[in-house]
Amino acid sequence: MGDIPGEAAAALNLANTLSRVGRKREGVDMMRVALDLRKRQVIAAEEALATVMTRETSASASGGRDAASAENNRAAYARRSLAEALRSEAAAKANLGTAVASFDDDAPAGGGNGGGGSGSGSNALDAIELFEDALSSLKKKARVVADAHDVELEIGLLLNLSNVNDNQHPDKVAGRAEAAARRGELADAMAKIPGGGRSLSTECAICLEAMSPFDGECGARVDGDGGGGDIRAKGDGRSITTLSCLHGYHTKCWDKVVGDKHAAACPECRKRQDLAASDARSGAARERVTVHA
Ligand SMILES: [Zn+2]
Ligand SMILES: [Zn+2]
Repeated sequence: MGDIPGEAAAALNLANTLSRVGRKREGVDMMRVALDLRKRQVIAAEEALATVMTRETSASASGGRDAASAENNRAAYARRSLAEALRSEAAAKANLGTAVASFDDDAPAGGGNGGGGSGSGSNALDAIELFEDALSSLKKKARVVADAHDVELEIGLLLNLSNVNDNQHPDKVAGRAEAAARRGELADAMAKIPGGGRSLSTECAICLEAMSPFDGECGARVDGDGGGGDIRAKGDGRSITTLSCLHGYHTKCWDKVVGDKHAAACPECRKRQDLAASDARSGAARERVTVHA
């Protein structure tokens, strides 16, 4: 199949370099190239597996024991290649989603979406779709060959889905509800970590007030203290940002910490959050996980 994986890895490297030097749009385009290559890799691997499977049945039908076991090995190999391709595809979707979510359309002033400044809402929706897509690639992969490694990627994706829905969704109420649901799945996935027993923060360690990570019912109060906000039911309507270390904070509290760039480490565990300098202001600080292919 040529060297599709090699080309895809090179495209991802180039994309990362482009984003690092501030050429974000080209970086995003290059990530799309990488994703297309991964999709081709999946198709090629599916075809290879299908071919082996038909040969396997004819080999066992014709009775030769050795021939059958050789085909068996080939089938196992093909299955592993497909699993690898699907995982890479999931990672490529995750990476593209991450790049899209943090991509500020600095298109000439067009739609000033009033404050917030965390990219346009349609970017957020695109990113959400990519993350969801990545989850389906991962599920498909788990049906081929499952391994413990996948939990990490699944957690990263659910974390991104929680954060983008909560902080960047153009429909705040819908975004909050979706984020709460995704955090529920995140908690389930966290329970799968070997020796795990980790749970999501229910208190913001910056302001020391309570948070409700699974409560999507609260009203769409946009800002901290705005009087007369329509707070429906329980919850306090504050968005949450969960970091890659899985510690969570009120988004406003975390943004204050990120505002001071030297302190862009988790206040609880001191894990540094990987913030490109140019991202720090754009709300892209919302933790997004970059995945290694
Ligand atoms: Zn707080
Ligand atoms: Zn932490």
